Amino acid sequence: SGWTPAADRYATTDYRRAGRSGLLLPPVSLGLWQNFGADRPLATPRAILRRAFDLGVTHIDLANNYGPPYGAAETTFGQVLASDLRPYRDELLISSKAGYDMWPGPYGDGGSRKYLVASLDQSLRRTGLDYVDVFYSHRRDVDTPLEETMGALDAIVRSGKALYVGISNYSPEDTARSAELLADLGTPLTLHQPRYSIFDRSPEGGVLEAAATAGAGVAVFSPLAQGRLTDRYLNGVPEGSRATRSAYLSADDVTDDLTARARALNEVAAGRGQTLAQLALRWVLRDERVTTAIIGASSVAQLEANLQALAGPDLTADEIAAIEPHAAA
Ligand code: NDP
Repeated sequence: SGWTPAADRYATTDYRRAGRSGLLLPPVSLGLWQNFGADRPLATPRAILRRAFDLGVTHIDLANNYGPPYGAAETTFGQVLASDLRPYRDELLISSKAGYDMWPGPYGDGGSRKYLVASLDQSLRRTGLDYVDVFYSHRRDVDTPLEETMGALDAIVRSGKALYVGISNYSPEDTARSAELLADLGTPLTLHQPRYSIFDRSPEGGVLEAAATAGAGVAVFSPLAQGRLTDRYLNGVPEGSRATRSAYLSADDVTDDLTARARALNEVAAGRGQTLAQLALRWVLRDERVTTAIIGASSVAQLEANLQALAGPDLTADEIAAIEPHAAA
């Protein structure tokens, strides 16, 4: 394509270690769950991916069924890899997952070895990658023995199709057991991926601790509560926002209570000279057990603004205390 990434792309990012592994991640990573489907002209996803790389965002988070339709985000990523990023493959950390609904029949959902191995092969074909850097079990499937799901992750690493493995949306207890099973097999648990934000503090109930105990890092998703911890919805639900176009967020999810909290938090952010999104990212990263915050972005401008979260001083104890009353229970 003739595209050349910024020469200073590593100048400003302080990478963070995933647990007790050898793997470093950028504090803010880019997820392609939404905004990278077939419903978006390629130009915007391509510009966002290029800019992310320019700004030191080495980690791109995918899953088999990100779209729409399912698979489209991996296809989009594969197109940009082919046109722009291929020479930089070894500078990129690409993850994918399987666990939720992907294809019809008994082998396209859940936690079986059959599904995980076949799905990863499909992800490799869509992206054009020889291997993914991290492969996750996307959710705990209680109908599949945990031994089988972890055995599949271990086998995938041994096959060379993934370098590291992770789990997502697992309870503290299942996190601990998964880590034990994997350790026995000789493949460490490297990452846990839970949802975590000022509006969803459930990982504080044990997941962060279980991951830390296991020596795993934590890659948190939806740190901006799908946009409700940004200025997107402070004055209503604008046309074109996720709440108007996504199957996963509706205007009803932008409640008066959350909007009131977001307005109050916006004041705390303003007191630091930051945006609400920047405050929300700093807040999840205040915990050293959190390795990276995986954001979504529908424009280059959002990405650039959010990455500015890392500029400026750490949150003070007073600022953390000022956030507390507005955090969702
Ligand atoms: P966020 O909470 O970061 O929400 C991103 C959305 O917020 C954007 O698409 C945009 O919405 C809005 N936004 C972001 N920045 C700004 C800004 N500066 N100003 C205004 N609005 C802004 O994360 P996501 O919910 O997108 O999730 C991030 C990633 O986490 C996913 O892509 C995926 O990789 C991962 N994930 C993993 C899951 C799992 O089960 N493991 C589940 C869900 C996500 P708009 O479109 O309105 O512009």
